[in-house]
Amino acid sequence: MRRATLDQVEHLVVETVEPLPLGPGEVRVAVEACGICGSDLHMYKGRHPVLRPPLVMGHEFVGRVVDRAPDVPPEAEGRRVVAIAGRGCGTCAACRSGAFNRCASLKVIGGHIPGGLAEFVTLPWDQFVPVPDAWPAETAALVEVAAVGVHTAERYGSVAGRDALVLGAGPIGLVLIRVLKALGAGRVAAADVNPFRRRMAHASGADMVYDLSHPEAEAMFRSVWPEGVDAVFDCAGRPETVVRGLELSARGGTVVLTAIFEEDARIPMTVLQRGERRLVGVQMYHREDFDRVIALIESGRLDLSGLVTHQFSLEETPAAFRLLATPGAEAVKVLVRPGG
Ligand SMILES: [Zn+2]
Ligand SMILES: [Zn+2]
Repeated sequence: MRRATLDQVEHLVVETVEPLPLGPGEVRVAVEACGICGSDLHMYKGRHPVLRPPLVMGHEFVGRVVDRAPDVPPEAEGRRVVAIAGRGCGTCAACRSGAFNRCASLKVIGGHIPGGLAEFVTLPWDQFVPVPDAWPAETAALVEVAAVGVHTAERYGSVAGRDALVLGAGPIGLVLIRVLKALGAGRVAAADVNPFRRRMAHASGADMVYDLSHPEAEAMFRSVWPEGVDAVFDCAGRPETVVRGLELSARGGTVVLTAIFEEDARIPMTVLQRGERRLVGVQMYHREDFDRVIALIESGRLDLSGLVTHQFSLEETPAAFRLLATPGAEAVKVLVRPGG
């Protein structure tokens, strides 16, 4: 099979290898499409907090089961699936409670385990969630991203009727805006310094869009929310955004951190302590978050269309990463199509 391997920082090779043999409980999935995630870009640039090349990246994929181990139920055969991108040890307290995402030995697909930037992946059947055949690949490949969005909203609590501020309108921020609206949030504001991303935020349903690097932006924000917003979501992951998020959150409010941070932030502890604010982390999701995303899409409340801006063949994977690594590129979600 063909696969794209990150053999060193900012260097991908598309090579031919033997597919992994099927172990007990495993299926082989032919990959139809695989999204490139912000975390893949961190790995590509050698700036991921944990993962370093060599790696076969890609965890936002949709594909079809083409082979299964004898102990996998026959109904797995031919199913169209998306992957749950993390796998816990299965025995620690977090894993036993169903929160594999909090496992201290969490392994991620497209990181510790070879991922979807390949013609085939071989993984345990319980690592997959079936999705309808009728959905376009552009929607199905974003289910995993939307699961992060649903989990993010849940880490805040109930967003129904609540106003929210989303900092950073990259793929996860844009999907989160749509998820918040689907879950019945009130007014949703978005902030990004990039004008293309601000336009996309507006198109994704944001009611107000700000460029917080603009000197008047904060006054404009305060004219709507003089006391701040209760729910702030950091999808940017820069030290200055988390500080800004705390400042723009209401007293008693919550700042939820969904982004990956390449460097640590200095937190204004008095803002956190005197305002009784909360700072909450997000790591991936639970299986149930996928069920909620699928139900939201099927009910018509969540629409993930229009977010895929570019598509490449597997052979063109290096070009796909070069595009995303270009500052100011007008790209949101980029798909690689190993299945043609
Ligand atoms: Zn991702
Ligand atoms: Zn564990």
